[in-house]
Order: sequence, then structure tokens, then C-alpha cells
Amino acid sequence: MNLASEIQTLFPKLPIRENKPLADCTTFQLGGPCPLLIDNPSADQLPALVQKLNEQEMPFLVIGQGSNLVISDRGLDCAVIRFCSDKPKIEAHENRVTVSGDTLLDDLALFTIENEIGDLTYCSGIPGTVGGGIAGNAGAFGRQMGDHLTSAEILGLDGTVRSATPADLEFAYRHSKLKETGEIVLSATFELPMVGKKEMQAERERILEFRKEHHPDWHATPCAGSVFRNIEATSAAERRQAAGHFLEDAGAKAMTVGGAKIFEKHANIIIGGVGCTAQNVWDLSEQMIRAVQKKFDLELVREVRFLGKFS
Ligand SMILES: Cc1cc2nc3c(=O)[nH]c(=O)nc-3n(C[C@H](O)[C@H](O)[C@H](O)COP(=O)(O)OP(=O)(O)OC[C@H]3O[C@@H](n4cnc5c(N)ncnc54)[C@H](O)[C@@H]3O)c2cc1C
Repeated sequence: MNLASEIQTLFPKLPIRENKPLADCTTFQLGGPCPLLIDNPSADQLPALVQKLNEQEMPFLVIGQGSNLVISDRGLDCAVIRFCSDKPKIEAHENRVTVSGDTLLDDLALFTIENEIGDLTYCSGIPGTVGGGIAGNAGAFGRQMGDHLTSAEILGLDGTVRSATPADLEFAYRHSKLKETGEIVLSATFELPMVGKKEMQAERERILEFRKEHHPDWHATPCAGSVFRNIEATSAAERRQAAGHFLEDAGAKAMTVGGAKIFEKHANIIIGGVGCTAQNVWDLSEQMIRAVQKKFDLELVREVRFLGKFS
């Protein structure tokens, strides 16, 4: 029996596909095939799944909504577990909320507002899952996922589950330890500051309007959000500066490579046009780095994760 059949025997209803292109699993709609795509297992199924993959020495990667990824046109040499669900799994008590890692961030934001649990409004409109958001410490408007997290249930690469504190996860700007270890967020608990429902609703509307005005709608325009991290402050007196500002000044908005081009309203976002390949996106990002290096002597660091081989 091959590995796909073995996993299917363990979990008869789980969608498992062999050599499936990953383009459908990312908001950039790019990516070649992987040997095994395991689609949308529940948090309960993940430990046994990981143990089975280990037993068969099959390397694996867990992704969420694929909204921060560019996957190589040549695909990946590992199994991919897509842990992303459009059915929110959320439990709340007073201002505490526990949520499954595969829940969409925007679903969580909406839930906490509608049920007046507390303020997670800044997550409104951020694509991706809670798990992906915690791994990358996603955020907006000066706030990020690590701020109000009290604990997370983490699945280690050996298939064992443990509880982690925010200190264990070593949050930093768009970073957590999970980005290095590849361990998996099964669920997370947040304790949220109390804010009135009307105030949160108005803030959500303002944020969604802002996003509509300044970001591409990824449902219609392939992209993965900001390509580069903002520039770290070089002294205590300075604040982190927008990478988009330097890119705009370096002339990035006029750059294209094949089907990849820069979003007209935001110089730090690459969008995919007709015939765009992952290699085009990589090459354009290299051009952007060179332009900012030449004009400002600054080294841009990618925020979007490029996976697989690029030439
Ligand atoms: C239009 C647009 C706007 C965006 N705006 C913002 C913004 O305002 N702020 C912001 O921070 N980001 C933004 N992003 C980027 C993206 O939405 C976030 O990085 C998001 O948190 C990624 O979540 P995901 O589930 O899509 O993760 P993926 O892209 O699927 O994966 C990203 C990383 O997280 C890991 N990962 C995924 N799930 C888990 C899990 N359960 N446990 C552990 N690791 C996991 C993956 O292995 C990978 O390394 C934007 C993207 C787009 C397309």
C-alpha cells in the first residue's frame, strides 16, 4: 500500500491528492505539484497524520490559506498539509477566546466583534488563518497576533502536543519561533481588551474600507501581500520605516518581469498578471532589492515566504 492509501485508510474522508499543483492553495495562484496534498484535516487528526508521515520518512509542510507564500513553479519535494477551514471553530468565555489554528483570521475578528468578546478588530480583512498569523506574528495598525495571546496548543514535528506561552514563541516583528521550527499551531487562546461593540464595528468598517482602497483584492488579483519587511529602525529614536516608501522612490512601480508587476497603489506589493510564473515574481523581487540597495544602500528582507527552487 502506498502512503496516500495508508493515510486514506486512517482517515477515510480526508481529501488526499498525489502530484497536485499547489496553485489552488495560494492567493498568488502559483506553485507546481507536491507528491502528496492532504487537504483540510481537523486539529484532532493532525497528530496521527504527522506521526504517519514521520514513520514513512516523508518530509512535510503545514500551510494555512497560502496568503504569504510564493511556491516554485517546480513544486515542492514534500507532503503539504493544508490546515485551513471556512468553518470557524471558536469558543469564548467573557473576554477569552479559544480558536482552532485553521480558522480564518477575519472570521475570528468578526466573531469577537459580534459577540463583544474583546478587541481583535485590527485582524479585520487580513487574509490567512490563525495558525499562519501566529507563526508570522501577523498584524496591522501597530498591533500583532502576539499581543493578546495567552497560550497556544503546539504540535511538534514528532507528533506530540504541548502548550506554549507567548514567551516560548519568541514573538518579534512579523516573526515567531515557529517560523524557524516549523511546528504547528493547533489552537490558540487570546485574552482581549474590552471595547464596546459599536466602536469595534465602526473600526472594522474603517479598516475594511482602508484595505479596499490600498490593497489588491486577492480574490480577483493574485498576490501575497507585502513582499518585503519594513526597514528596522537603526536607532532608538527612529521608527520602523515602510519598505514601500523606499521602493516607490527607487522607481519600483515601473518594474515588470514577465507577468509579474507592481500594484499601482502600493510599491511593496507584487501582483500576477497574465502568464505570471513564480520565477517571474522571484526575479522581480530581486530587481526591487537591487534598486533599493543601489539608491539607498539598504538591504530589503523578504516577508513573503518563497518555497522550493528558484533560479
Ligand atoms: C491582500 C493581502 C493583504 C495582507 N495584509 C497583511 C497585513 O495587513 N498584515 C500581515 O501581517 N499580513 C498580511 N498579509 C499576509 C498574510 O495574510 C499573513 O501573513 C497571514 O498571516 C498568512 O496566513 P496563512 O494562513 O495564509 O499562512 P500561509 O501563507 O499558508 O503560511 C505562511 C507561513 O505560516 C506557516 N503556517 C501556516 N499555518 C500554520 C500553522 N497552523 N501552524 C504553524 N505554522 C503555520 C507556514 O508553514 C508558512 O511558513 C496579507 C496578504 C495579502 C494577500
